[in-house]
Amino acid sequence: MPEFKILIVEDDRSIQNLISTALKINQYSFLNVYNGKEAISTCMSHKPDLLLLDLGLPDIDGIEVIRTVRTWSNVPIIVISARDEDSDKIEALDSGADDYLTKPFSVQEMLARIRTVQRRQQYLPSPEQEKSVFENGKLKIDYASGTAELDGAELHLTPIEYKILCLLSRNVGKVLTHSFIISNIWGNAVDTDIVSLRVYMTSLRKKLKCSEEEEPLIRTRVGIGYQMIRL
Ligand code: CA
Repeated sequence: MPEFKILIVEDDRSIQNLISTALKINQYSFLNVYNGKEAISTCMSHKPDLLLLDLGLPDIDGIEVIRTVRTWSNVPIIVISARDEDSDKIEALDSGADDYLTKPFSVQEMLARIRTVQRRQQYLPSPEQEKSVFENGKLKIDYASGTAELDGAELHLTPIEYKILCLLSRNVGKVLTHSFIISNIWGNAVDTDIVSLRVYMTSLRKKLKCSEEEEPLIRTRVGIGYQMIRL
């Protein structure tokens, strides 16, 4: 297995120790940096496979780090935030972060998020957006013909449901915020709210037969948005 290198960006030494210990036990290789500027330069010089990024850094804001790194790199970024304000996470996700953890988080939860990213990476280097057929578990989407199947049976989706499904699949593994989904599906001009989106999601999930209890294909991130999981 090729080495999977994680860059930890965290100024709080106790949290950094906690993360480092967990990664060491699980045989990940990792690097530690303590501020935003080091994070950006280490990203350039060491090309990590994943960033674990604290938002509250001593020099520049974590959001700024995401925006800068995204100008040249698609490296997965999991934000670690002490702030329980959803708006920070939403801003981080809309700036290009893939997922988030809220402090205090469990080590198991962190490892699960890392595995989600790795599962997504296995399907690279051919990027999702360049494939004409998408397969994930029992789901198959043929973008060219505009159809979707579940376990070999065609799914009867409304145009909006199909568009939402395509958007989630093209960003598989990434948490998409409500506003990101709404602006992509309806455009900014249309006055569609989160309640309407929730109605479409409920209907879509029913058709996809995915429940929250088992390993769900589409996961709800309360107060934030939705995420398709690579099964
Ligand atoms: Ca901090």
